[in-house]
Amino acid sequence: MSSVWTRSAPALAAVCVAGLITWLLADAQWALTVVCIGLVLLLARHIANLAALEAWLRDPAAKPVPQGSGVWDEVLVGLYRFVRARIKQEEQLSGDLQRFRNAGLALPDGVVLLDVHGHIEWCNPIASQYLGLDEQRDLGQPLVNLVRHPDLAAYLEQGEYAEPLTLRLARGEGRVLSLAIISYGESQKLLLASDITLAEKVETMRRDFVANVSHELKSPLTVVAGFLETLTDGELKLDEARRQGYLNMMREHTGRMQRLVEDLLTLSALEASRGLSDETAVDVAALLAGVRDEALALSAGRHRIELRIEEPLRLLANAQELRSAFGNLVSNAVHYTPAGGDIRLAWGRRGAQAVFSVSDSGPGIEPRHIPRLTERFYRVDHSRSRETGGTGLGLAIVKHVLTRHQAALEIESEPGKGSCFSAVFPARRIRTAAEAAPTAG
Ligand code: ADP
Repeated sequence: MSSVWTRSAPALAAVCVAGLITWLLADAQWALTVVCIGLVLLLARHIANLAALEAWLRDPAAKPVPQGSGVWDEVLVGLYRFVRARIKQEEQLSGDLQRFRNAGLALPDGVVLLDVHGHIEWCNPIASQYLGLDEQRDLGQPLVNLVRHPDLAAYLEQGEYAEPLTLRLARGEGRVLSLAIISYGESQKLLLASDITLAEKVETMRRDFVANVSHELKSPLTVVAGFLETLTDGELKLDEARRQGYLNMMREHTGRMQRLVEDLLTLSALEASRGLSDETAVDVAALLAGVRDEALALSAGRHRIELRIEEPLRLLANAQELRSAFGNLVSNAVHYTPAGGDIRLAWGRRGAQAVFSVSDSGPGIEPRHIPRLTERFYRVDHSRSRETGGTGLGLAIVKHVLTRHQAALEIESEPGKGSCFSAVFPARRIRTAAEAAPTAG
C-alpha cells in the first residue's frame, strides 16, 4: 500500500506545483481551476483503469490481465503475476491428476476410490468391468448398492481389512475376485480388486490332484495290507494254492502302485523341466519297431498288430519322451481292444506335417468324453481302466510330451467301431534321413 501512496505522490505534487505556478503568474482563481482540472484528469485515469479491471473480472479466463497506467501499472502487473502463478499451479495439478488417472488406467487390477461414506469417487475401467460399475453414472453412489453381495457389505461394515476378501461373483462367468481395502486420508478407502479365478482354479486342481492320488493309492494299499494281515495270521491255516493266489493279488496291486508312482514321477519331471532337452534327429521307424515289440509282448497273441512306416522320417525330438508318449498310446490300444481285435500303427506325412497314428478296433469312446481324456485321472470306464491296470495318467503324459514338441493329439473315435489316436508334429521338426545323417553320425 505504501508503494501506491509513494507512486501517487508525484502526480499529486505535479498538480499542486502547476496550481502554485498559476497562482504566482495569474491569480488564485486560475490556480484553483488548474488544480481542479489536474485532479479530474487523475480521477479519469483511475476510472479508466478500474473499468478495464472490471471488464477483465467479468471473464478472467478469456482475456489476459489488462495493462494499467500510472499507479495502476504496478497493481495490475502484481495481479498478472498472481494469475500466472495460479494457472501454472492448476496446470501442474491437472498434470498430476492425469498422471494418477493414467496410472490407474494402466493398472492390471481394479481400483475404486471410496469417500468417508463408502460412495464411489472414482474407479478405473478394470474395476468397472469386474464389479459391473459405470465409470461416469455410478460416481457418488454407495458401492454396496451397486455390487449387491452380502459378503462385501459385511466386509465394508466391519472395518477390519488386514485380510483380503474373496468374492465369488455370479456374473462374469463365475469370476473370483480378491478385494483388498487400504484406508487413507480421513476415513477414505482405496479398494483394490484382483482377478484370482485362475489361481483359484489351480488351487482346486491341486486339491483334486492330491485327493485323486491318495484315492488311487488307497485302494491297492488296503488290498495289500489286508492280504498281508491274512498271510501273517498264525491262527489261519492257508493251503498253498490260496497263499499263492493272495501273493499274486498283492503283486498285482503293488505293480499298480508302482506304475502310478512312475507315471507321477514322469509327469512331475515333464512339468519341472521348462524346455525340451536332448533333442536329436530321432529315428522314429526304429523307435516304433521297439514299441511294436513291446505291444506284441503285452498282447500275448490276443491282437493282430501291424506297423506301417510310410516314409522313414526322422523327428527332431527327445527320444525318451517320444518313446513314453508313443508307448502309452499303443499300450492303451492293447489294453482297451478286446482279444481278436486289430491294432495298426502308422508313421508318415500328412501334408507338411508328420503323423504317428494308432488305430484300434476296440470299444470306441463317446464324443462327450473325448475333450476330457487328457485330464489327469479321467477315465471313461473306471472298472475297465482298473481291470487293465491303468493309472489314468497315460494320456496326460502323452499330451504333455506332445505340447513340448509343439505337436497336437487328435482323437477320432466311434463307439462300437474303434479309435484312432494321432500325434501330429509340425513340419519344422521333420528331418529326412539325409538331413539327419551328419547329426546322427
Ligand atoms: P488309463 O491309465 O486309465 O488308460 P489314460 O490317460 O491312458 O488312462 O486314458 C484315459 C481313458 O481314456 C482311459 O481310462 C480309457 O477310458 C480311455 N481310452 C484311452 N485309450 C483308449 C482306447 N484306445 N480305446 C478306448 N478307450 C481308451
